[in-house]
Amino acid sequence: MMFPSIFYAMAENDNAILGAIPSSLFTGDQSFYGFATMHDHIHTRLTNALSATSTNPTYASYCYDKLTNLSLNHQDSRIVLNRGLTVDSNTTSGMGVRCKNDSSLFEAVDSKQMVRNLCASQKYHKMDLFLTFTCNQKKHFGVKKIRNWIDSGDWKQHFPRYIEYTIDGQKEINTAIEQSAASLLLRNWMETKILFIKYLLHSKSSCLKSVSNIFARDEYQKDAGNLPHIHAMISIDWKELNQEQKSFVEDLVSASVCDIVPTKNVASLIEKGIMKKKHEYDEIVELSTNILAHFCSPRCLRRVSDGDGPDAFVCRKPNNLKLSPDNTKHCFLKLPMDSSVKFCLLYL
Ligand SMILES: [Zn+2]
Repeated sequence: MMFPSIFYAMAENDNAILGAIPSSLFTGDQSFYGFATMHDHIHTRLTNALSATSTNPTYASYCYDKLTNLSLNHQDSRIVLNRGLTVDSNTTSGMGVRCKNDSSLFEAVDSKQMVRNLCASQKYHKMDLFLTFTCNQKKHFGVKKIRNWIDSGDWKQHFPRYIEYTIDGQKEINTAIEQSAASLLLRNWMETKILFIKYLLHSKSSCLKSVSNIFARDEYQKDAGNLPHIHAMISIDWKELNQEQKSFVEDLVSASVCDIVPTKNVASLIEKGIMKKKHEYDEIVELSTNILAHFCSPRCLRRVSDGDGPDAFVCRKPNNLKLSPDNTKHCFLKLPMDSSVKFCLLYL
């Protein structure tokens, strides 16, 4: 009755809608009374090109709702809403809660328990660095070819009769190109990301010298079109490093854009082929000034008094310049927290 355009006839004496799934089958995802399971019914209806059920988007949503309802059986609906559903061949409905059986530290981790386990693991695996890697689509070698090709508009020459479209039509095509590139950008970034983490972990030329453990996690921001950034915890095998290597790894932490590439190292970096030319140094400083500089946003501000003026908020980010007792060398400072466990922060 809900879809008269598909199920338009009623059996004369039985008051049954011909072709509609009997509601008694909606109660479970097993096979009842000799009928096929809901999963099989829906699979057939959505994939059979000869049936009107396969071309009606509202009917497809309706089928999805039915399967979702069945997947919610014996589940905490808050967990389902929080994590979402995914393909699960172990259930008869074909859908299951994301990360349902995830007890390992691999793949998607989306539970507070896992984060707590991770904190507890510090007792056994001391981590040394917390790193965040974000993808600069215009500059990163893994994706810049796609991003710059789209931004340049060169693709318009290959789109048949692009200039004949109206302004609105062209806007729609631009959006479609942007959206269709998203999966390609994501796949390239995912592949590059794995290579990069493997490089940090295994390569002899890794800037971290000797790494014993890496735990990395992708995080997606809710802004549209953003690639995930990686949060990584890394433990360094300090025993394997000599004094020079230890200082090198410590020097990688820099709280000033001018210290990212110390000027005294420029000549040797060019010699090793890591930097191609001298003015690449200026480019790096300019780029890091643009990307790494901190600009306050609602995410970092903490309210300290009433009102909306700038004095009502302070930034949560520590100001390394003011905090460090000596800005010319590494200093260790105790974190201001009441705990029997002693933590230290590295400042430059
Ligand atoms: Zn701030």
